[in-house]
Amino acid sequence: MYLSEKRLVLDCARQMKQNRLVSLTGGNVSWRLEDGNVLVTPSGMDYDRIEPEDIVAVDARGRVLDGRRKPSSDLSALLYIYEHMPTVNAIIHTHQPYATALGLVMDEIPAALITVIDACHAAVKVAPYTRSSDINMGILTVQYAGDALAVVLKNHGVMAYGADLSEALCSAVYLEEAAKTFSIAMSLGKLPLLSYDDIAAEAEGWKSYGQ
Ligand SMILES: [Zn+2]
Repeated sequence: MYLSEKRLVLDCARQMKQNRLVSLTGGNVSWRLEDGNVLVTPSGMDYDRIEPEDIVAVDARGRVLDGRRKPSSDLSALLYIYEHMPTVNAIIHTHQPYATALGLVMDEIPAALITVIDACHAAVKVAPYTRSSDINMGILTVQYAGDALAVVLKNHGVMAYGADLSEALCSAVYLEEAAKTFSIAMSLGKLPLLSYDDIAAEAEGWKSYGQ
C-alpha cells in the first residue's frame, strides 16, 4: 500500500538527516496524500536503516492502516496541524541546531536574508516551550505559523511545512542555513534588517524561480 509514496517520504527523511537537521532517530517526516490519509516515519528508527515498508500509513484520526511499525510519537501534533492548516500537505519536524539555538534567545527569526523570504515566506516565529510528543506542539505551530512555512519550537526544534515534501524540506534546510548565517552575523555585530518594501519585492521575484 502506497509503496511509491513511502519511498518519497523515506527519501525526504534521508535528505533531512544528510542536511544535518536531525541526528540518529530524531524528528519525523509526514505527507498527507490526496485521499486524506497520512504517511509518517516510524518511531525511534534510524533513517539510514529503515526501508520504505517501515513508513506507516494512518488515517486522519491516527488509526494505523498499513505498516509494520509504530508511527512517530509526535503523530497527534502532526494530525492537528493537517486538520487546521488545509493547504499544508507535508511536515518535517527537525532538531536543527542553528534555528533551535536562535529560538532560545529570540522571539522570531527575521526575514533579513533572501533565503528566509524565499523558502519560509516570512519571518519565522518562536513558539513557547511544550513537552515533546504532545499535541501542544501542533496547537502552538498553528498559533504561531502566521504567513511562514516554519515555526521554531522553543527548547526543542522546528516544524517546517508546505504544500508538498519539497516545499517543506526547502523551508527547513534554508531556515537552517539562514540561522547559521544570522548566528555568525550576531557574533560580529548588530543584525541589519530589511525594509518591508525589500521583503515584498524579493517575495514577488521568487515566484518565477526554478523550472
Ligand atoms: Zn522533536
